[in-house]
Amino acid sequence: MEELALRLDGLPGEPLVIPYARIEGTAGEGPHLTVVAGVHGAEYTGMAAVMRLIHRLDPGTLRGTVTAVPILNQAAFWSRTAFVVPADGKNLNRCFPGDADGSYTDVLAHEIFTRLIAPSDYLLDLHAGDLPEALAPFCLYEESGVEDRSRRLALAYGLGHVVRQSRASRTIGGSTSSAAADVGIPAIIAEVGANGICDEASVDRHLRGVLAVCAELGMLPGDPGLAGAPPNEYGGWIWMRSPVRGFWQSRVAAGQDVAEGELLGVLLDPLGREMERVVAPAPGCPLFVTTSPAVVADGLLLGLATR
Ligand SMILES: [Zn+2]
Repeated sequence: MEELALRLDGLPGEPLVIPYARIEGTAGEGPHLTVVAGVHGAEYTGMAAVMRLIHRLDPGTLRGTVTAVPILNQAAFWSRTAFVVPADGKNLNRCFPGDADGSYTDVLAHEIFTRLIAPSDYLLDLHAGDLPEALAPFCLYEESGVEDRSRRLALAYGLGHVVRQSRASRTIGGSTSSAAADVGIPAIIAEVGANGICDEASVDRHLRGVLAVCAELGMLPGDPGLAGAPPNEYGGWIWMRSPVRGFWQSRVAAGQDVAEGELLGVLLDPLGREMERVVAPAPGCPLFVTTSPAVVADGLLLGLATR
């Protein structure tokens, strides 16, 4: 294992150092797979899984190369900040491929993209529900010229739900997976775990997903071993936002199918009176649900995956 670090000296504040590792397989030729976590600073399950991956991989049985980055968003991690980078309040996963002349997060995205993502053949980006989010495990891939190969990664990861995000309805532009796919690198975002909790089952599930992808790509011997029921596949999703600032009480669980018109939750005023009832605009499955009651106007309530 080669111990490396991405150093960024041009940003305000202390020089930024992102530690990572590279494992060069000696078992034969193979692709270069990059596995990152910690794009969001309080989504810990993927970080722990990537740390374990570094020590789990044996160069003697590995074909190709794995670059493993446990914590990309160092500032957000150490400050326990959900979703955004503290320096400028931007969401790193909306800023790829980045901008060398932009603000802190744009520059960070640019450096990560050019130095870590662009040299890869495949990209896995591990996430979880952040501090205020419940979540049902899912993988996300983008409509692109390499989407068949991205979908293959998503299916190999073996989670219960897979969402294809079309270009026209990209809910989240500027993500790792969309920027990678746009330059021809098959990529997925994998989400396991919730509420900023680093639970063993979710860490293990992420690790098994990554190892299954390695097996699928012929980088590790053997069968991925995750063959189970095929996942629910969705053609897109609707990210539902709050019409008002209010005390959010969700009425659905992540991963629970809902019918069109079904009540998803209510927003209460400061004295507990109902202000808004939020209903499903289409049948689907909420894959993440905001669990914190504190929701501002236009704040995210849930992500409803639709067929
Ligand atoms: Zn995330």
